[in-house]
Amino acid sequence: MTQKSDILIIGGGIAGISAGARLSEDVKVTVLETENTIGYHSTGRTAAIYIRNYGNQVLRALNNASEQLFLEPEGISDRSILSPRGQLLFAHEDEVQDLEEYLDGATGMQKLSPAEAVKMVPILREDLIIAAAYESDTQDIDVDRWLQGFARLLKQRGGQIVSNAPAQKITKSGDCWMVETPAGTFEAKILINAGGAWADKIASLAGVSTVGLVAKRRSVVQIPAPDGYQIDNWPLFVTAGEKWYAKPEAGKLVISPADEDPTEPHDAWPEDMVLAEGIDRFEKATTVTVERIEHSWAGLRNFVSDKTPVVGFAPDANNFLWLAGQGGYGIQTSPALSQLAADICLGRPSSLNEDTVNALNPKRLITQ
Ligand SMILES: Cc1cc2nc3c(=O)[nH]c(=O)nc-3n(C[C@H](O)[C@H](O)[C@H](O)COP(=O)(O)OP(=O)(O)OC[C@H]3O[C@@H](n4cnc5c(N)ncnc54)[C@H](O)[C@@H]3O)c2cc1C
Repeated sequence: MTQKSDILIIGGGIAGISAGARLSEDVKVTVLETENTIGYHSTGRTAAIYIRNYGNQVLRALNNASEQLFLEPEGISDRSILSPRGQLLFAHEDEVQDLEEYLDGATGMQKLSPAEAVKMVPILREDLIIAAAYESDTQDIDVDRWLQGFARLLKQRGGQIVSNAPAQKITKSGDCWMVETPAGTFEAKILINAGGAWADKIASLAGVSTVGLVAKRRSVVQIPAPDGYQIDNWPLFVTAGEKWYAKPEAGKLVISPADEDPTEPHDAWPEDMVLAEGIDRFEKATTVTVERIEHSWAGLRNFVSDKTPVVGFAPDANNFLWLAGQGGYGIQTSPALSQLAADICLGRPSSLNEDTVNALNPKRLITQ
């Protein structure tokens, strides 16, 4: 038996689940997910940070448009999904230009002296810092509460999430998309491609032009809090050239080498050499020697050539909506992107400005 919906979404990460929850207010939605739980890939492996000024101008507009729903997540949670963290950016000699570029057009930034930076994060080596800046409204995101809240809302509104359901064959029957999975065959007029690192592969399955998505691995290690320090109130601290970053997390310190190695889509894991090199950069910039790694993981950040997400109908296929390429910003932009995806599917005007909507359109990446 083929199961019919109005909209089929491939991918049970934050992109697919948040768009599905929005759409299920008006139409019948089914989300298909390969794994047996939602959020298993990139969404479950993040640094869980909202940074207003992170990314290019389009991303900054999306970050801004997203904040309000995080603060007042009606229907998703009874309280804000964000909590204060702050971000300290610091530049060694070779990163002063990077810091200037970040500050260009950024809002809510305060320049700091090296001594002020070290007062915030006392393990940093003041002698190496040339310039620094603080972004006070950077916040932690409770990613699990966010994802599960959207999933609950989707189901309350009559939508369904089908796990262990990898889309294996995608065809058209009349004006409907047919998706075959081991869990059955699903049919809908509109198909949303929210397949994360696999989004180009999903497009190929459907016979739709790809957008040139590249999956880039990013790794994280967790270490005990450095001896003698109370770290809970430290900000996220990151080198201006994003060579590594660290933040407190439940009494521990998590450090990322900020790696960006291109890879085939897969269940990502960290490579020892990448972790060792990242820890070496961290140790050289601080007074800390890392003696024990408690835990490490890696996930994929997926980019197209202009590092801007891809949201809009494919120019070469009817009712095939791209919702992909969210890079390192997919959680923090999910309020705005899920709303946009729903507005496009339902033919409603977007509250985002036209330039932003055009910059996201897949047309820019596909020459027909
Ligand atoms: C280490 C790290 C740190 C990060 N930190 C942050 C951060 O602090 N803030 C932030 O905003 N972002 C951050 N990101 C980025 C963020 O994780 C992603 O942008 C976001 O999770 C992308 O969500 P998604 O739903 O598109 O992808 P995913 O979560 O990967 O979901 C895609 C889903 O599609 C499913 N799928 C694929 N193919 C099929 C198929 N054929 N059939 C059915 N299902 C399929 C997959 O199983 C997967 O579950 C970070 C990423 C990493 C790796």
